Amino acid sequence: MIKSDQDLSTKIRILVNKSKYLFNTPYKHLLLNRCHLCNKHSDSHNALCKNCLEDIQASQPKCATCSITVRAHESICNDCKNTQPYFDQIFAPCSYEFPISKLCQDFKFLAKKYIAESMSIAIIENRKLSNADYPDLLCAIPMHPKKHEEHQFDQANELATRLSHKTGIRYRNNLLVKTNETKQQKRSNKAARLKNIKNSFSVRNIEFVKGKSIAIVDDVVTTGATVDEASRMLKQAGAKRIEIWAFARTPKQ
Ligand SMILES: [Zn+2]
Ligand SMILES: [Zn+2]
Repeated sequence: MIKSDQDLSTKIRILVNKSKYLFNTPYKHLLLNRCHLCNKHSDSHNALCKNCLEDIQASQPKCATCSITVRAHESICNDCKNTQPYFDQIFAPCSYEFPISKLCQDFKFLAKKYIAESMSIAIIENRKLSNADYPDLLCAIPMHPKKHEEHQFDQANELATRLSHKTGIRYRNNLLVKTNETKQQKRSNKAARLKNIKNSFSVRNIEFVKGKSIAIVDDVVTTGATVDEASRMLKQAGAKRIEIWAFARTPKQ
């Protein structure tokens, strides 16, 4: 019951402050409810609307092994033809180009965790293209412990956790360990990246790896050097099959 005008104005002030708070928090997308790609109002609380999620799946032809965009008549890219990678197959629904690149950057650098929901839906839909059984385990490309100490956002871990909830596949976040701090390799080519990343992972629990089919999760696969090196280590430890589950794949420059 409102006793006076003063009570009413106090209540209004509290409500206005509360709404200001909500619109300035990481949850504002829940109120605004706009798709991050097409900016249309979305009936879901996800970063992407249903149409955009469907469009992602109906994109260009991809290499059957590494998921890079290829020409219509090609099924395997030249890189995979020339050198068989350690992983068996990459599943990555999107090409890392604008506006997908912007979405990935918001996820990673602004730590917008809710974006993982749409990303994981897109990855699972993409994985349905395969007739192979689901892998036995999920793991993620690990961050160097120093970055953990600095409380940097661990986007691969966030995505793997979400994928595990949705698929029921067990996520072991301690299978792979980053042992060397690698240099920033944003602008390096594949050979330079391979050299940079070589021997920078170790496998911690070999008993969980032997004979297993494992999916390594990451947000973006750039040249493929990082996931290939992680796959090499897991295969060396006895893994039977390695899949890479990522949201986006960088096209060939
Ligand atoms: Zn949309
Ligand atoms: Zn390929």
